[in-house]
Amino acid sequence: MNKLGEMVKTADWKSEKHVPVIEAPDAVKAGELFNVSVVVGKEIAHPNTTEHHIAWVAVHFIPEGSKVSYEIGRFEFSAHGQAAAGPNLGPIHTDGCVVTRVKISVSGILCATAYCNIHGLWESDKAVCVQ
Ligand code: FE
Repeated sequence: MNKLGEMVKTADWKSEKHVPVIEAPDAVKAGELFNVSVVVGKEIAHPNTTEHHIAWVAVHFIPEGSKVSYEIGRFEFSAHGQAAAGPNLGPIHTDGCVVTRVKISVSGILCATAYCNIHGLWESDKAVCVQ
């Protein structure tokens, strides 16, 4: 049996619509707030329907040299066009995009995981250096 970690896929986000793209500064000052955004489907739009959508995104931080990752947040997208009248007839579709704000005291790696209800788990990461 596979371990869950072995099921998490990654690829070049420019050619694979499931990869979460992390947008954050390359370098920050210790203790200074900065935005972290995660976008799924940045280059190639991911479908967003009742049957096929991004269900959630989770963001973690791994401090340099740490054996522990810190969860920044989990974002569940709940509205996918579902309605009593039928699939895709609802008035709202959430999109696989989140923005949050953090401050860090040490350099490290931001990691994002995105879950497609059909195509599983995808991840990417981005280094952020504390100057
Ligand atoms: Fe998908």
